[in-house]
Amino acid sequence: EGRGGVMSVRFPSALLTLIRELGRLPGIGPKSAQRLAFHLFNRPEEEVRALAEALVNAKTGLERCPVCFNVMSSGQDCCAVCSDARRDRGLLCVVETPADPLAIERAGEYGGLYHVLHGALSPMNGVGPEQLTLAALGARLDGTREVILATSTTVEGEATAHYLARQLLPSGVAVSRIAYGLPVGGDLEYADEVTLGRAISNRRPV
Ligand code: ZN
Repeated sequence: EGRGGVMSVRFPSALLTLIRELGRLPGIGPKSAQRLAFHLFNRPEEEVRALAEALVNAKTGLERCPVCFNVMSSGQDCCAVCSDARRDRGLLCVVETPADPLAIERAGEYGGLYHVLHGALSPMNGVGPEQLTLAALGARLDGTREVILATSTTVEGEATAHYLARQLLPSGVAVSRIAYGLPVGGDLEYADEVTLGRAISNRRPV
């Protein structure tokens, strides 16, 4: 007797729902989700509406380029890189995320095409070859003279590069790997432009 009253204090269901949905985001634990929910509750309504709209528009207004699988605005035939006649169509740079081509473009050393895998092989997390855009990559090799493996230097990124190098061997297409000069365990998007530019220029055959 006497302590039972504590449990009667509960969050309203709208707040619980918000905390639950925020908690689904990568890198957001229960504590962070709760903090974000209270933060949003205290912001002006128009600010929260703008965020909600941006979330929905990002989902409905964007899609994957059917050629390279990078992110592009909905309704286009393909992305700006794939449709650019000045790009070297013999070079294909394979990356993990849509953030990577952006980082590589900033470095300014590369003028070929991209292929976005949308992840890296990670058997422990249930990510196998079927979860990535590998089949589509195999179908793009006509007219390609070199595939540059620009996956990250994490364990998963290296495993993916090794897997791809093996898979691409019978095709006869030259395969190279960047990463020299990149910090081990690093994601491409966090590398500075000079390092990234050098990593691409100094790529090595595998
Ligand atoms: Zn594209």
